[in-house]
Amino acid sequence: MVNLSTPIEELPRVGAAYAKRLKKFGIKTIQDLLFHFPARYDDFSEIIKISAARHKLGQTACAQGKIIEIENSRTKKRWMAMTEASIEDDTGQIKAVWFNQPYIAKSLKEDDFVSLAGKISLYKEGLYFNSPSYERINNFDENENLTHTGRIVPVYPETRGITSKWLRYIIKPLLYRFAEQIPESLPKEIIKKYKFLAIQEAMWQLHFPETFEHADAAKARFSFEELFLIQLNVLKEKIKLKQKKSPACPMRADLMKKFTSSLPFKLTDSQKKCAFAILKDLEKSVPMSRLLEGDVGSGKTVVATMAALNTAKCGYQTAFMAPTEILAKQHFKTITELLLNFDVNVGLLTGKDARIFKKNETIEVSKKSFNGDLENGQLNIIIGTHALIQKGIEFKNLGLVVVDEQHRFGVEQRDKLIKNKKLVPHLLSMTATPIPRTLALTVYGDLDLSLIDEMPKNRKKIKTLVVEPKDRKEAYNFIEKEVNEGKGVFVICPKIESKKPGANGCPTSHQAGGMSDIPPAFAPQNYDLRSIALNEVKAVKDEYKKLSEEIFPDLRITMLHGKMKPKEKERIMLDFKKGEIDILVSTSVVEVGVDVPRATIMMIEGAERFGLSQLHQFRGRVGRSDVQSYCFLFTTDPSQLNRKRLKAMVDSDNGFELAQKDLEIRGPGSLYGTQQWGLPDMAMQGLSNIFLVEKTRTAAKELLEKDPELKNYPLLKERLLQFEKKIHFE
Ligand code: ADP
Ligand code: MG
Repeated sequence: MVNLSTPIEELPRVGAAYAKRLKKFGIKTIQDLLFHFPARYDDFSEIIKISAARHKLGQTACAQGKIIEIENSRTKKRWMAMTEASIEDDTGQIKAVWFNQPYIAKSLKEDDFVSLAGKISLYKEGLYFNSPSYERINNFDENENLTHTGRIVPVYPETRGITSKWLRYIIKPLLYRFAEQIPESLPKEIIKKYKFLAIQEAMWQLHFPETFEHADAAKARFSFEELFLIQLNVLKEKIKLKQKKSPACPMRADLMKKFTSSLPFKLTDSQKKCAFAILKDLEKSVPMSRLLEGDVGSGKTVVATMAALNTAKCGYQTAFMAPTEILAKQHFKTITELLLNFDVNVGLLTGKDARIFKKNETIEVSKKSFNGDLENGQLNIIIGTHALIQKGIEFKNLGLVVVDEQHRFGVEQRDKLIKNKKLVPHLLSMTATPIPRTLALTVYGDLDLSLIDEMPKNRKKIKTLVVEPKDRKEAYNFIEKEVNEGKGVFVICPKIESKKPGANGCPTSHQAGGMSDIPPAFAPQNYDLRSIALNEVKAVKDEYKKLSEEIFPDLRITMLHGKMKPKEKERIMLDFKKGEIDILVSTSVVEVGVDVPRATIMMIEGAERFGLSQLHQFRGRVGRSDVQSYCFLFTTDPSQLNRKRLKAMVDSDNGFELAQKDLEIRGPGSLYGTQQWGLPDMAMQGLSNIFLVEKTRTAAKELLEKDPELKNYPLLKERLLQFEKKIHFE
């Protein structure tokens, strides 16, 4: 029997070919299809008389009439297939014109009644519907059940071969058959408390809303539901973790004092506060799960080092994980310098290398001897990439895991480590990715938050400028002057290579997406314009050539991009750090925390292509010493929106503020790194609303306090399981 869990290929209108395309959206069953929600709506709800079309010139309108004539022909200029129809109602006549869809003349016939919705254009003296949506109707029945016109029409996320029209055609009959069967998974008391639509009604109103208010009400329900499920998921884990035991590591106040007074600088108040919160957590035998957030350069490493030192002196090991080899090595160097004379043994483990710092000296060792020292507890702090926690690596007594810049990674990896251990290590996750509070509460909902919200005092504010094309030369002069004083310059480009025009017309970068859906025949002029703009996207290889051959033939310039081998990238970064390279032309690979204090200029090409948070992270690569640093933003996009965004960069040096701005200006989709969190659409939309996020969090907390296993909510439990399978953060 066909039901909600029937695979879609079994539906006669779908079949294998469409089923395959739908899988791209993760749609496998009828239920999945019903949960494929519209991204937006077209408002075709007002139906006008044909005689009123002249008032709608240049706008969208919907009208209905009888087809008097319909035929295919070809355009004179481009020999494009064209379908022309004349439609009549009791007030007048109008034409409809479609291009490249000759089949329309087969499906619509003379004397058919149609409903049309689309833009009213003018050609010579005559008004016509320009490529309108259409559907056949029965005469002019008031109660006509319209799908594609004459109503608020859903527009879905589309993929190749799956159009919104097709989705409407498939989904509507499924709603008639199955909407009633969709189980209500939200607890009754929540529906009542927040006056939500029941799921069956919400499902209808989301796909085929009566009014925009109805659509909003449906959205509110589903946004709540998705965020609520995420909260249940993270809070459930949190509760589970609370029942585990961790090594309690009492705070060694004297040791911490000795450490801080050995530093060449004074900790900021923020650093002190965060370190204290962490050290207090470590004292407990409940596992710590803490996120340390702080802008680039705010000094997180030193705080983590304090935690590791304290843990070491309590007899437990610390694993310190970095996202790349370069960063692991950098951390090793920093931390061993910080811990000079503290009698702590520090290990470094990367792809091929193993090094040990012992008695203030660093030696290379074999992996075998490294692993031996790890197992017998000789090593106190072990720094590496996530190679650290793979099989074959045995810690003697891991007390703390520090994870740098890897988002959810830490939580999941610790989960793996926990498996057969009695004691669960504490977790400190660190990030410079400024995320707004709503997102923090959601994706990091199970973590306690510590914020380093001030910069070390010796820093000068980075001067940020939007450079107009006419001032480019001046910027280059300035750069040359700085380089001659021994300073380093980053040049960031959005792409590695420029695509030759005509190769396939599509950009490689996802940031420039959406090009492929402009059919050349439809908008010939636009298309040409856009492809020119496309080639202007600065590419590392071209920029490198231009700078080294034309602009600065005397300077030492090197390029760096993601297609290079890690070893090569590392060598280049080190040369740059040492001052053997003046200008580094790079893609966004420099984003993560490599520390090059001598770099004082960050020049960003195609700034319109990056989100504010990302720009902010680039900017954080400079200004890492007491020397004045600069960030130059180059852009070819004159739009207001872009101006506004770049102005925000100039005005603010606060990553959290910028993340919030990005959320406001470009919406949740723009949030840095959101793809990797894989949040479902409705939850994403809900992220703009702090009240909603807090509501879902409270509701989830209350429910789990009452019923941690969700025993009394079997449908919710089932839905949560399905949901967890679908989303997994990173
Ligand atoms: P991030 O938070 O980006 O990881 P780091 O820990 O790499 O920042 O610190 C950036 C630089 O600032 C390092 O060179 C570090 O030694 C230095 N630093 C850290 N704390 C302070 C401070 N309170 N005063 C001055 N310099 C500091
Ligand atoms: Mg760092």
